[in-house]
Amino acid sequence: SSGGFGGTSRLLALSLRRFASTLVVAEHEGGFVKPSSLSALAAAEAIAKENKISLLLGGSGPALHKAADHAASSHPLVSEVLVADSEALAHPLAEPWAELLCSVQQKGGYSHVIASSTSFGKNLLPRAAALLDVSPITDVTAVKEPRVFVRPIYAGNALCTVKYTGEDPCMMSIRSTSFSPTNETMSETKVAPITQVDLSSLSEGKSSWVNLTSQDTERPDLANASVVVTGGRGLKSAENFKLLEQLAEKLGAAVGATRAAVDAGYVPNDLQVGQTGKIVAPELYMAFGVSGAIQHLAGMRDSKVIVAVNKDADAPIFQVADYGLVADLFEVLDELLKKIPDK
Ligand code: FAD
Repeated sequence: SSGGFGGTSRLLALSLRRFASTLVVAEHEGGFVKPSSLSALAAAEAIAKENKISLLLGGSGPALHKAADHAASSHPLVSEVLVADSEALAHPLAEPWAELLCSVQQKGGYSHVIASSTSFGKNLLPRAAALLDVSPITDVTAVKEPRVFVRPIYAGNALCTVKYTGEDPCMMSIRSTSFSPTNETMSETKVAPITQVDLSSLSEGKSSWVNLTSQDTERPDLANASVVVTGGRGLKSAENFKLLEQLAEKLGAAVGATRAAVDAGYVPNDLQVGQTGKIVAPELYMAFGVSGAIQHLAGMRDSKVIVAVNKDADAPIFQVADYGLVADLFEVLDELLKKIPDK
């Protein structure tokens, strides 16, 4: 524990700052490290300026190795890229991944392990933490000291500062919306070494990959889009959601939805924004027919500019909105679709 005696804790904090070595679980797609994992890298940087950061990438095939090359030149603090090439890791199955993370940690003795709070990170981290017998800290939004973090509680209505007092490693998941990837570019000559991970002890998991069903869309990913247009129960039907899609098309935006809209079957649940959906913080968030329940606000209140259209002037969404329009959403959508030119 670093609590208790002021002087001792300061010393410990100093030595931690000096000796921090962090393992970042890096997700990748299409040969590149995903933006959410670059945010995890930014969180690792926030732990200690002299942090030695190792990135762990898993999967199989050429895209993995291309992503490893990207990872190796992603940040000056990256001192090593660990690549685990196996069919068993080609899909985001938490069992083999937890085993991998556990064995990499046992070998490397890192002081911190960071993953992003994506569905993969949320699935992996607690399993790996259980194997290592430590307690993970989830949904970190700020790093105050190497072992002191801020995380939201009560659906984002309060922020809690927590101190990790357990054994190494301090394992945490971070909210990528709270850590902007750094723009530091590496010089051509400074590329971190890439090391293959020994996978001989990886056992066959109890789960197997069946298939992935996803919608083919040209639009940006909801979690990273700079503009999100969201519809609530006020949209009234799946058919009417097409109006929002048209608006999204014109704005280059992602479409989001409330849980009520998802439960009513208007859209699939991967569009849900909120406490039990995705957490977003775009430059512009437009909400149509959304009442603004706290569970919804938990997923979007950090957006830079919030626009709300609702026919009820007392709807709670107006309390967080920068621009509010008390109006019928269908009239507003109709006008917007006419006035905004195609992209
Ligand atoms: P409603 O609350 O029914 O609001 C519809 C709004 O549309 C109203 O304000 C109405 O005035 C307006 N409207 C209707 N017609 C028009 C029109 N023609 N023009 C303009 N405005 C119109 N919800 C989430 O969204 N995300 C979550 O992750 C989430 N997690 C939850 C977790 C738990 C444990 C629980 C208990 C609930 C959760 N919820 C979540 C549900 C949440 O409490 C609300 O029920 C939900 O967000 C309401 O969705 P809504 O705003 O679309 O619907």
